[in-house]
Order: sequence, then structure tokens, then C-alpha cells
Amino acid sequence: MSARVRRGADLDAVVVGAGPNGLAAAVTLARAGLRVRVYERADQPGGGAATRSLTLPGFHHDVCSAVHPMAFESRFFREFGLRQRVEFVTPEVSFGHPLSLGRAGIAYRDLGRTRDALGTDGRAYEQLMRPLVERSTQVAHFTGSSLVRVPTDLRTTVAFGLRTLEQGGPAWRARFREETAPALLTGVAAHTILTQPSLAAAGAGLALTAYAHARGWPIPVGGSQAIIDAMVDDLRAHGGEVVVDHEVTSLDALPDAPVTLLDVTPKALIRIAGDAMPSGYRRALERFRYGDGVAKVDFALSEPVPWTHPELRRAGTVHVGGTRAEVAAAENQVNRGRVPERPYVLVSQPSLFDASRAPAGKHTLWTYTHVPAGSPVDRREAVIRQLERFAPGFRDTILAASSRSARDVERHNPNYPGGDIAAGAPNLWQLFRRPVFSADPWRTPIPGVYLASASTAPGPGVTGMPGWFAALSALNHDFGVRALPDLSPRA
Ligand SMILES: Cc1cc2nc3c(=O)[nH]c(=O)nc-3n(C[C@H](O)[C@H](O)[C@H](O)COP(=O)(O)OP(=O)(O)OC[C@H]3O[C@@H](n4cnc5c(N)ncnc54)[C@H](O)[C@@H]3O)c2cc1C
Repeated sequence: MSARVRRGADLDAVVVGAGPNGLAAAVTLARAGLRVRVYERADQPGGGAATRSLTLPGFHHDVCSAVHPMAFESRFFREFGLRQRVEFVTPEVSFGHPLSLGRAGIAYRDLGRTRDALGTDGRAYEQLMRPLVERSTQVAHFTGSSLVRVPTDLRTTVAFGLRTLEQGGPAWRARFREETAPALLTGVAAHTILTQPSLAAAGAGLALTAYAHARGWPIPVGGSQAIIDAMVDDLRAHGGEVVVDHEVTSLDALPDAPVTLLDVTPKALIRIAGDAMPSGYRRALERFRYGDGVAKVDFALSEPVPWTHPELRRAGTVHVGGTRAEVAAAENQVNRGRVPERPYVLVSQPSLFDASRAPAGKHTLWTYTHVPAGSPVDRREAVIRQLERFAPGFRDTILAASSRSARDVERHNPNYPGGDIAAGAPNLWQLFRRPVFSADPWRTPIPGVYLASASTAPGPGVTGMPGWFAALSALNHDFGVRALPDLSPRA
């Protein structure tokens, strides 16, 4: 299939930003037969899926994203055949959650095994999760679309909606008698950096937990960059190009092309579009809210983290922060603008599953914690202290560390304003208005200009979905192409 291209212009499409969404857009357009050029401000493509050497030679760290359940569930990546192009390891323990006295919640990929390990609350946990695990593809479809569209699968919508209402409100205590299962669930819901409990946090947490027990939480061999490399390879194979070290500051500075897709925030789009942007749309984008931030700490270790609970040594991801009440208290402090003394910390040790990440016998450790938007505070010590609570001796395994405050995170990538890794708070309201309330939120009123970042529906995560939707909208409106371009590796 070939799009209706404009004669005379050298390019049919310009994409600004080579993150997963910019590249998803570029790949889709190139596969439709368009001549595509991507401009990236960094010295390599990757954005939130870059892998770099941040500590010592031979240690390869994921600068942002590390664990990819959302990529596995993404319709774009399924069309793209990601699993045929990139090797993934899926740990048997999707995630773990240490508690005091050497106890821990363990979320195995196998829901039945998780139920058995939970003991008293096992059946209640299984009853909560089983319908979502069995319909995880439909859950991904529901959460991976613009929520402005009418849901078509009523059974999934009801099962998901009722459970979200339960876990996102005052009833979240009712189902369980012990501490472990609630801690497991809140450890995942807290990924959202939202108030605990809240509906949006609970919904995102339940979806991610369902994926943990369905297809697992996979880790790409070689790091997240492997996902980006596969997309860049495909783009180049279909005539596209990527220009790095090139920050775009104005639409006027771009080469002539019928469409421009921007993998940037609404804030950046306002600046880049300048006077070309109608004032009503500018005001709508100015109402888009950014969330709190993250501070990131990466470690090079002499040996694996010495978790007290042995099963945590097999976990792809560990949520550190104690009980549900402790994690909620820390997160709610962040939402009130405070830096918690005992923070919630997300931890992944990819080198346990992928030997290419570190020299023989050594390990990389990826951690981040939540802080108020724009915080300049270095959280290295707070992260080490929290890990020491559940892995005594951790400090002695550290060979080197690289620490970034929320302010540094934004400096590294302007798509994360104030360190907001979701590129816009994923609260309930902004799940519908992302970034504006529209059935086609990717299309701007500026002719031929589309927003293609995680600030647009369906939101954050390495899914490629916002970029794919933006490209499909551009193909439809500007080139008269309604059929989905074939993205498969064999095409
Ligand atoms: C610390 C951290 C941990 C995360 N963990 C996970 C995880 O484990 N799993 C997961 O699924 N997601 C995770 N995420 C979220 C995920 O990385 C993002 O949601 C995703 O990368 C968004 O993709 P994007 O293409 O919209 O934006 P980005 O990946 O941020 O890419 C935007 C790109 O555009 C470029 N750019 C911006 N402005 C310009 C300009 N004016 N000119 C040229 N180039 C420009 C940037 O340099 C960047 O390369 C994490 C994010 C962070 C920061």
C-alpha cells in the first residue's frame, strides 16, 4: 500500500523526537510508503528507552524504562512483531515486595502459585485477579485506547471497573486480612505517582498486575535500547532516516513536508508552534497538568542484592517501601510536596537475567523513587537506606552509583517536565483529556501537525501506541489512507 504523497517536496513526513512513540509513528508512516525523517535532540535515538553506560565501563544501564509488560501487551508492538525481533527474558517471579521480619509478597507469573504463597489471603487475591488475568488482552485493549471511545467489551469493562472501584477507594481494605496481598497491589498501583488510594492508580495497578500473571513482566536482552534499535532498523529498511543531535525549536525551522508529528509534551508544542497555534487550543494545552517526579539511582554492584527473602533474588522487579500503609503514606507525602524520609522505591536487577548487562559475576541495579515535581534533591542515600532495610549488607556491594534528581531527569529529556516520567499526570481526568478531550487527541488544529508522545492517549509506557495512533490519524486525514500499514517483520 502506498500513501498519496505530495509531488515536489523531498519529504512526506517529519517526526520530532526518537523516543518509542516518535519511532512508532515514523515506522508506521514509512511502512505506508512515505519518505520520513526523524529529528532527535540527543546524540542517539532512544528517549525513555535508551541504554547507556552510566557508572563503570562494561555496566549497561537503562536510563529510563527497564521492564516491559506494556510493550508485550501493546497492539502496535504486536503488529510490529517485537517479540520476533528482540529477545526478552521473562522472570518466573514478576515482582516481589519485601516486608519486615524477612517476609515478602511474591507475585509469580503463575497466579495459582501466587495464591498458594499468599496463604490466608490467597483466595481473595485470586478472586480479585483471575477475571482480569484471563482477559488480560482485553484489559490491555481497554486501557490502551483513547478512553473517550465507547468501550466495546462490556464484560471486561465491568470486571475491570468494579475491581478498580474497590481497590481505588475506601473499600480497598475490605477484601484482605493480612498485610502481604495489599502491599503487593499497592506496590504496583504506586507506579503511577498518584494519591493512594485513587481510581486511576488502582486501574493502572490492576492492569499491570494482570499482565504480571498473564504474560509476565519481560526484560529485553541488551536493555531497552534493543527495542529502539529494532524500530530504527525497520525505519531505515523502509527508507526513513534519523538525524541526531538536532533539537527542533520551531516548526518554521523544519524542512517542507505535508505532515509533522511531534514526540514532545504539550508544553513544548506550544513553544515550537509559536504563533501558528490557535489561541483556544493553546489555552486547552495550558490546562494540561504534569505530575510529580522521579529521582533515579543506578548502581554497579559486586554481587546480587542480598535480599533477606530468597525468592526476591529471582524477581525481575521489587517494590521497596514496606506495608500498604507505609507506601501510601510515602506517596501521599510526595503528592503534598514533601520528600519522604522512607520512600517507595522501584527496583530492577536486569543482570540477574541478562548477563550482557555487566562484567562476569557483577551486576547492574536500576532504581528510582518519587519526589515532588522539579525537586533538586539527590535520593541516593535514601534509596540505599530503604534497600538496607530488606537487604542488609547491600551498601557493601556497591561499586559505583549514578544519581539523578527530578530536575536532572528533565534536563536529560524535556519530555519529563519536573521529572514527571508520565509526561502528564495520569490521573482520572487526564485519562480522558490527554492532552485534550477529543476522539482524535493526536490531531492538532494546525494543518498537518500531530502530537505523538506519551502526553497523548493512551498515555505513558513503552507501548508505541500514542505514536501509532498519531500516524494513523495523519495517514487518514492528510494522505487518505485508512488501511493499517503492515508492520510485520516479513513485510
Ligand atoms: C526513570 C524512568 C523509568 C521508566 N520506567 C518504565 C518502565 O520500566 N516501563 C515502561 O513501559 N515505561 C517506563 N517509563 C516510561 C517510558 O519511558 C515513557 O512513557 C516512554 O519512553 C514515552 O515515550 P515517548 O516516545 O512519548 O517519549 P520519550 O521516550 O521521552 O522520547 C521523546 C524523545 O523526543 C526527544 N525530543 C524531545 N524534544 C525534542 C525536540 N524539541 N527536538 C528533537 N528531539 C526532541 C527526546 O530527546 C526523546 O528522545 C519510564 C520512564 C522513566 C523516565
